[in-house]
Amino acid sequence: MRLAFDPSYARLPERFFARQDPTPGAAPAPVVVNRALAARLGIDAVWLESAEGTAVLAGNLVPEGAEPIAQAYAGHQFGGFVPQLGDGRAILLGEIVTPDEARFDLVLKGAGRTPWSRGGDGRAWLGPVLREYLVSETMAALGVPTTRALGAVLTGSPVYREGFVRPGAVIARVAASHIRVGTFEYFAARGDEDALATLCDYTLSRHYPEAEGPLGLLAAAVAAQAKLVAQWMSFGFIHGVMNTDNCALSGETIDYGPCAFLDAYHPQTKFSAIDSYGRYAYANQPQIALWNLAQLASCLLPLIGPGPAAVEQAQAVLDGFTPAYQAEWLFRMGRKIGLARATPEDRPLIEALLSRMATEGADFTRSFRGLATGRARAEFADPAAFDSWEPLWQARLAREVVPQAVLAAANPVRIPRNHRIEEMITAAVAGDFAPFHRLLAALAHPFDPEEDFAAFEAAPTAEERVTRTFCGT
Ligand code: AMP
Ligand code: MG
Repeated sequence: MRLAFDPSYARLPERFFARQDPTPGAAPAPVVVNRALAARLGIDAVWLESAEGTAVLAGNLVPEGAEPIAQAYAGHQFGGFVPQLGDGRAILLGEIVTPDEARFDLVLKGAGRTPWSRGGDGRAWLGPVLREYLVSETMAALGVPTTRALGAVLTGSPVYREGFVRPGAVIARVAASHIRVGTFEYFAARGDEDALATLCDYTLSRHYPEAEGPLGLLAAAVAAQAKLVAQWMSFGFIHGVMNTDNCALSGETIDYGPCAFLDAYHPQTKFSAIDSYGRYAYANQPQIALWNLAQLASCLLPLIGPGPAAVEQAQAVLDGFTPAYQAEWLFRMGRKIGLARATPEDRPLIEALLSRMATEGADFTRSFRGLATGRARAEFADPAAFDSWEPLWQARLAREVVPQAVLAAANPVRIPRNHRIEEMITAAVAGDFAPFHRLLAALAHPFDPEEDFAAFEAAPTAEERVTRTFCGT
């Protein structure tokens, strides 16, 4: 099987990356292949599941046409600038051009050390690999822009994490690209304006061919992030590590580390064990996205022009973020209460529901879905809090044409809940992949009620509740 590689990033100047082959694993074994995505990429899924396909996914065999590289990037991590990060354990094999001429990066995450590995082993273990596989595929099923998972394999080489020997694994990640705000920061920090100009042009031609120049790129990134984060908010998704190196210019969700979906709604919820101060808590996500975009803007300043005029122009573009985000949030959240096109006057109605949910510990996903089934009130510790809101909502709903259809299309029945993910990982580490496959199947059509998967609708009990998640590096 020959994959349709066209590694354009590897044709950029040498300082954009390091040429690096993956390090073979001791005994690769297949775990899962994403047949639908393989078809989209023009890859034969039967081949991908074969010994040769498994060897490619594990990094044991570099496919013909690939030009493996580790990409250079920097990044602000929890607000502090790190001038050099780079792919420490991800290797970009190249871009695959699909039969319909779309271009996707194919990356092996966990495929060994690179010049940017610092003290790390360049590896990943099965837990975070399955977590990323499951959550990113769910995001795609929810309609949220995201990197995808093409497959996962065991490497047969154990890794050591926090005193445990864990099964080593690789996830094959597919993305519109892996260009990050941190990629721009890498060159800005070095005062390398030539590289910035090259990167700006490359990003424009790859993602926003209709846009022009650095301000056009900034505007496109602002629009994409505003849309993306509004979608996260509408599904109760907390990314967990919104560092600038995890903020993709394409507007796709990238880097599924300590991410989690809300169970009970509270705006200040955070799960990540390393996010001590809640910088990346649920409600902070829009302002953090804007902060990340501001870092992008400052990288682009030298390309925009000299002096204060450039700052003013960039600021004007950044000022577009909040209105764009709010409009998208209103649209998304309006649909969650059955309004086909919410208007600004509907905002207090949505906010009143959210504040009651926060006070009454209501489950985010179940409460919204419950609006369609009449079961929402049972999610509130004190159902009277819902009862006092409901007549206002019903009065507004009377002006809608197909509120039931809108509710059903906007509110998933099932989400990948933390306790289910942890249960699935525990089983997989013990060699039982059935819970992974079952959860994956349950989340493939998250909006459809399915009798078979009713158990996945439940919120965690007090004993099951997971309150901390880990990046799993
Ligand atoms: P992340 O937290 O996954 O966004 O990674 C932050 C930085 O640490 C990136 O430069 C990664 O490539 C690097 N990194 C994470 N885990 C490892 C590892 N096991 N080995 C080498 N580098 C790593
Ligand atoms: Mg990252």
